[in-house]
Amino acid sequence: MIDSYKHKGLRKQLIAVIKEKGIKDENVLAAIEKIPRHFFLDSSFIEFAYQDKAFPIGNGQTISQPYTVAFQTELLQLKKGEKVLEVGTGSGYQACVLLEMGVKVFTIERQKSLYQKTKIFLPGIGYNPRMFYGDGYAGLPAYAPFDKIIVTAGAPFIPEALIQQLKPGGIMVVPVGDDIQTMITLTKVTETKLVQQEHGSFRFVPLLEDKADGK
Ligand code: SAH
Repeated sequence: MIDSYKHKGLRKQLIAVIKEKGIKDENVLAAIEKIPRHFFLDSSFIEFAYQDKAFPIGNGQTISQPYTVAFQTELLQLKKGEKVLEVGTGSGYQACVLLEMGVKVFTIERQKSLYQKTKIFLPGIGYNPRMFYGDGYAGLPAYAPFDKIIVTAGAPFIPEALIQQLKPGGIMVVPVGDDIQTMITLTKVTETKLVQQEHGSFRFVPLLEDKADGK
């Protein structure tokens, strides 16, 4: 796969677009400018890679819109070295953005074929998050607690296990709702005090509860 000057130029334009839409965090913008998003799309969609749009990645799933990736990443207020759990690995693009932010990434995907595809693909382009096949509702208790948690599928409610796996002082960013989701940040101020804030409407594929599909 080739990352040409043309691709780099298109990424610069994409950065201008998402800046215009309100993304300010320079580290987030730098991460998106660095990652060749066209590597993540089926070849038939490559010309669309640097439009600010979501795209199909197979198995009925999507790679999130760059603005949405940037917005969720900005809300996490990441600091280098933090431990971050991502629910919904999908194409792995968001995981790469997190890695470029200098954090340790643990990511879960519940569709086996997608998990297997991404597990081979990401190291091949130089990104190595810890990848797990499993159910995001359960999180990763063996690796908890996490400084930050990002859910990249629409959750009907905030999974209790994920709240438990957040460190005190930690932040979870999760789109909550069925058809349309409200972006929510849940801050675990102390072990017993949670603060929730809303950040507008988004549309994600659903966080699926049936985990026994075996696919
Ligand atoms: N972060 C991804 C976009 C993910 S789309 C990217 O950057 O490309 C949402 C993903 O969540 C899909 O891959 C879907 O299969 C996965 N998913 C849905 N329900 C899940 C669950 N219960 N646990 C883990 N992953 C889940």
